Amino acid sequence: MDNRPRISVAGLKKSYDGISAVSNFELKLEAGEIFGLLGANGGGKTTTLRMLAGLLAPDNGSGNVLGHDLFIEDKKSFEIMRHSTGYMAQKHALYTALTVAENLKFRADIYGVSNPSNAVISTLEKFDLMALADKRVGTLSGGWARRLQLAAALIHDPKLLLLDEPTAGLDARAKAAVWHDITSLAAAGTAIVVSTHDLSEAKRTTRSSFLQNGYIVASGSAHDIIRQANVTRLSLTGDGVEKHLLSLKKIRGVYGVFPEPAGVSLTLHSDELSAITALARENALSLKIHTATLEDAALLLGNPENNAEADNV
Ligand code: ATP
Repeated sequence: MDNRPRISVAGLKKSYDGISAVSNFELKLEAGEIFGLLGANGGGKTTTLRMLAGLLAPDNGSGNVLGHDLFIEDKKSFEIMRHSTGYMAQKHALYTALTVAENLKFRADIYGVSNPSNAVISTLEKFDLMALADKRVGTLSGGWARRLQLAAALIHDPKLLLLDEPTAGLDARAKAAVWHDITSLAAAGTAIVVSTHDLSEAKRTTRSSFLQNGYIVASGSAHDIIRQANVTRLSLTGDGVEKHLLSLKKIRGVYGVFPEPAGVSLTLHSDELSAITALARENALSLKIHTATLEDAALLLGNPENNAEADNV
């Protein structure tokens, strides 16, 4: 068995027309790991996944994916890497006029699967798609189309799976089915990178990184990311608390002010806690600190005011 990491990259950088999209990305990913890419819109998740998939050449950095050096032009090693990688794009990449089975057959042919007809049948079975085999893809619901996209990315039994928001727009049941697939594949040894906006999904990964402005600004377990964000969530209650909404929003380091039936909930940088404590004392308000969540951390980490570039140079 090959014990080398499936991905080992450092300092990956990509700019579009001189504007930086990803900077200094690093990752070492072993077989059986699930790595999550979190981040605000435009954080650099898709660009990172496309570089790892060999679809976009990085401007700078070092490293390899499945042994293929991303910085050395070697057609043969590139082909081997591409044939062992499953990539599911954020945008629908299926032929809508073809049926479900025809789309899978097309993918199997592209990847040079040795017995494409068998691969189509076993994939249809594995993904509960048999009843839809002859249905045109253009007539599938969004959830089934997404499921087919995942099935198509897996038809060649890849060692590495790169998934760009595979659960976007899915209902709870369909999301659970996708995560069941992801965890079973990882348990069987597939290495997986998955991007998501649904922060609750970070709990299902081995570890994650949060990208802001193209930089990794926090990494590790959900707990690690919350700790690195240095975030506090609290609630204020008391007579006339609603009168302070505007002034609370103006306090530096306060990233979320949410009116609630019994008071106001705040998400803030922990260093600014003293300002809120003073306001509560002056106005005879009660203050209660709650356990911060990944959503609270994301409010801080993903805020455009936090210039990730400046923090990382
Ligand atoms: P989202 O969560 O919204 O899908 P993302 O985290 O996947 O975003 P990217 O799509 O990688 O982020 O985009 C990172 C940055 O690069 C953004 O500022 C985006 O506008 C820019 N960008 C992405 N693709 C291109 C392109 N083809 N040409 C120019 N700029 C691009």
